[in-house]
Amino acid sequence: MLELVRAGWNDCEIARATGIPRRTILDWRSGRIPDFDRVRTRPAPNARSCPVCGGDPLSLPQGAYTYLLGLYLGDGCISTHPRQVFRLRIVCANAYPGLIQRCESAMAEVLPNKVSRTPKIGCIEVAAYSKHWPCLFPQHGPGRKHERKIELTVWQQELVDLDPRPLIRGLLHSDGCRVLNWVNGTPYPRYHFSNVSADIRGIFGRSCDQLGIEWRPNNPFSLSVARQGSVALLDEFVGPKR
Ligand SMILES: [Zn+2]
Repeated sequence: MLELVRAGWNDCEIARATGIPRRTILDWRSGRIPDFDRVRTRPAPNARSCPVCGGDPLSLPQGAYTYLLGLYLGDGCISTHPRQVFRLRIVCANAYPGLIQRCESAMAEVLPNKVSRTPKIGCIEVAAYSKHWPCLFPQHGPGRKHERKIELTVWQQELVDLDPRPLIRGLLHSDGCRVLNWVNGTPYPRYHFSNVSADIRGIFGRSCDQLGIEWRPNNPFSLSVARQGSVALLDEFVGPKR
């Protein structure tokens, strides 16, 4: 290379002829030695942005993450794109603009990537691209959720145990509803949670158990919370969808 320099070639010409990056040729010419230690000890960009890859999943924002987990288990899916990029998509009905906003905020708080809204018929798809959705939601896998085993990892359960309310809220916001059951002209509010996956219904039931919220199976795919005290507990942090 020094011969090419002596022959009067400029950095661009040398780079083209040798395949060596132009930046490297400039360093050599000026006698600069890059600080390789600094490069080696710097954490990978992925590890910095993803608490799971960085080995510290408990540093995730508990409320936003477990709420998003509930939405994902209810109405979310992760699709695969080229170069190991994934897209988390959560479908929110147009009827609940507040819910769309909460979903968007939770997604942005969990990973600081751009969150998009795509209008579909009767609903909005809230979505973001990242390489890390499968580490954040290891329940991702081939096939439909109810056709595969869905269980929380140890660190996910630890986050839920800190406060199960955001998870329950996310699950009810995606797959639940608050209805009025009329008995002799008196309305009795109750909550229903419906999901085809017995595993996901189990996650909902166990989280309710942690807060002393009583539930029972309502039909093969649905659980209901009907006792007055339990409904009152859910009303404190869920309430009707909007
Ligand atoms: Zn990751």
